[in-house]
Amino acid sequence: MEEIKKCIGSNTKICVAVKADGYGHGAYEVSQTALAAGAHCLAVSAVSEGRELREAGISADILVLSLPTPQEIPELLGLKLIPLVFDAEFIHMLNVKALEAGTVLDVHLKIDTGMGRIGCTPADAPILAGLLSSSEGLNLAGICTHFSSSDSLREEDINFTHMQFDRFMQAVSLIKDAGINPGMLHCANSGAVLLYPETHLDMVRCGLLAYGYYPGDLAQSLQGSSHDSRPVLEPVMELCTQVSAIMHVMPGTPISYGHTWKAPSETDIGIIPCGYGDGILRRYGKKLCVTIGGRPYPIVGRICMDQCMIDLGTDSGVKRWDRVSIFGPASAGSLFSAEDIARDNDTIPYEIICGINKRVPRIIVQSTSA
Ligand SMILES: *Cc1c(COP(=O)(O)O)cnc(C)c1O
Repeated sequence: MEEIKKCIGSNTKICVAVKADGYGHGAYEVSQTALAAGAHCLAVSAVSEGRELREAGISADILVLSLPTPQEIPELLGLKLIPLVFDAEFIHMLNVKALEAGTVLDVHLKIDTGMGRIGCTPADAPILAGLLSSSEGLNLAGICTHFSSSDSLREEDINFTHMQFDRFMQAVSLIKDAGINPGMLHCANSGAVLLYPETHLDMVRCGLLAYGYYPGDLAQSLQGSSHDSRPVLEPVMELCTQVSAIMHVMPGTPISYGHTWKAPSETDIGIIPCGYGDGILRRYGKKLCVTIGGRPYPIVGRICMDQCMIDLGTDSGVKRWDRVSIFGPASAGSLFSAEDIARDNDTIPYEIICGINKRVPRIIVQSTSA
């Protein structure tokens, strides 16, 4: 959070995206930490995620980024979650239910400026803003859009992001010209926080940056660059476990389902009680190494639901119950981050961290650098 604040002006608020259980970190724990560190509000994707935070005692504003179903509207109203709305049908429905419930609900208008997902067209935005301002059960508290390509340094993506921002600001100025107060303006995701300061406006909506990773291309191009203003990031999550057993095997011993790997020579095999049921997917196994005592050890054979095997060699000195880091920050001694696993598996760190399943206990540790 401190590193994000360095990228934005003092008048720009921070909304932290805690959807998908706080990108796999634990939505409540992340929310509490982010709010204590100065976040203005939170963003979830589903009403159920908002409920979880409200039930845990979070009273801050919570944006709901995906459109709720009609059946979820009563709960949305009860919890005072802030939906992003973008069409007349839903606005009418929401207004009627808000009036029935005797409340006025804050909503934000979502404009699709080129993401190709939810949102109204820039041309429809003034009409819908007008509809909202005449809906007595609703209060237009903000207007937003979302960038599709702000984490890329390709020229066409940079041009596209500028174009999206121009479309957004044009729609906003038409709304203002119509005498409507647009409320809070926000559009910057992590990529735009880093690359497009002009888009920060009243608030930025950060996800990945808050979890210690650069989005998209920026991991390689910005990380480690000597630029003073670049945030210095460390992965927030470490996935760790312990060696549950060690077996000494003879050359040719087959390991795990399907016997896709056989020991080429006499070796020690470590058993790690972590598998695809925890979010370490089978496909990661081809290139995945874990860290024990500062040294890398490759996963061998197929990753099972609950366990996987590593080749320790014959003189590792690794003992049963030794701590194993599957991925995490270098400061905790991990040689690999979710970014490394993502790169090796043709995906993005978002998918790796979100994929760590619920049965893995989340243990909150104090920062040692503070
Ligand atoms: C997830 C999300 C964000 C945060 O994106 P990051 O790339 O993680 O910063 C912002 N806005 C919307 C609408 C989102 O869905």
